[in-house]
Amino acid sequence: MNRQVVLRFGELALKGKNRNYFVNRLVKNIKIALRKHEDFKLSVEYGRIFVECHEYNLDDIISDLTNVFGIVGLYVGYKADELELDEIKKIADLAVKDMLSERNIKTFKVETNRPNKAFKFKSPEVSRIIGGYINQTFDELSVDVNNPDVIVKVEIRKDAYVFSREIDCRGGLPYGTSGKAMLLLSGGIDSPVAGFMMAKRGVEIEAVHYHSFPFTSERAQEKVYDLARLLTKYTGRIKVYSVNLLNIQRAVAENCPSDEMTIISRRFMMQIAEKIALDKGSQGLITGENIAQVASQTIEGLNVTNSSVTLPIFRPLLAFDKNDIIKIAKDIGTFETSILPFEDCCTVFLPDKVVTRPKVADIEESVSVLDQEALIDDAIENMETFVFNMDEL
Ligand code: ATP
Ligand code: MG
Repeated sequence: MNRQVVLRFGELALKGKNRNYFVNRLVKNIKIALRKHEDFKLSVEYGRIFVECHEYNLDDIISDLTNVFGIVGLYVGYKADELELDEIKKIADLAVKDMLSERNIKTFKVETNRPNKAFKFKSPEVSRIIGGYINQTFDELSVDVNNPDVIVKVEIRKDAYVFSREIDCRGGLPYGTSGKAMLLLSGGIDSPVAGFMMAKRGVEIEAVHYHSFPFTSERAQEKVYDLARLLTKYTGRIKVYSVNLLNIQRAVAENCPSDEMTIISRRFMMQIAEKIALDKGSQGLITGENIAQVASQTIEGLNVTNSSVTLPIFRPLLAFDKNDIIKIAKDIGTFETSILPFEDCCTVFLPDKVVTRPKVADIEESVSVLDQEALIDDAIENMETFVFNMDEL
């Protein structure tokens, strides 16, 4: 077991006294993400996280680590058997061979970082000695301190390491360190991305989905569960509350002005989500809403939905262009599922005309003819709950 992966934190390093809290949660999340691998060792040394593994499982472990929020990057390399220059030369040899096999390089430079001040050689000396060794051993390589093709990184800690690769990860904050919020998850492109963005900032997410079964098909619901499953790649696990909105949509269609149908249904969606959120300990709601994308997402429309609840509504995509949202959806792997053509509950009873500048007072008056509380309670009473796990991916 001599392959080493060392995690780079970025923002976490700024957390001062709270740093341990974040690091501990990150370790817990890494254990979940790597649960399917048996043969690896995780250790924490002075707030740095190390994963030790084998050649055979290295690539899989790296690919799972890249999706753990809170990790900015990975250094990949080797650990020396002993804290001795000769041993460091041995692993430098392995690291350089890796680099040569990966791409065509001609020049290099050694950079040493020596947090362990007890080591008898200072950083510049280590760089010089290891650099000299590499230069001698590999005829095809020469030193270039100004503009090298590669940098061979040496780290002298309790143990010595040489790294041959640096891999970018997603960054963010460890999942679960920023509270919990309820995602309104539709089958569209936007809401899975909105959930991903909040999860990336450390917010634990649960999801609520509205359907109009039997007007909408079971396959349409399956699609939403598939999206939730895809999000577990980043969250480990996710709970989805599935709520049938049909009775509410019927009541609204029969009793309220048809051009207000969409906005009134959205109010109900928010209110139901808030009620479940408060019951389950969520501190906010998350939507994929985006300013001016559709008729119900004008400032006035967003105001009406805001006015129906007291929990904050987080809209991480508010100011994104659709193309940029699609780019993220493709990157996180939800796009292909989102574009499958299944009807959403919003499209059932869709009116020809939609108010684009609704006034809170008008909407409240229109909806006052309904027994809102009873409708909401009834919908929640009949909801189904599903839990998805990254192991099912
Ligand atoms: P999306 O791509 O996420 O479906 P959209 O562009 O289709 O978004 P709307 O249909 O107006 O926009 O929905 C706006 C937001 O309201 C969604 O991003 C989602 O958060 C929430 N929402 C809409 N429909 C549903 C639903 N059936 N179940 C749960 N949430 C929904
Ligand atoms: Mg939608």
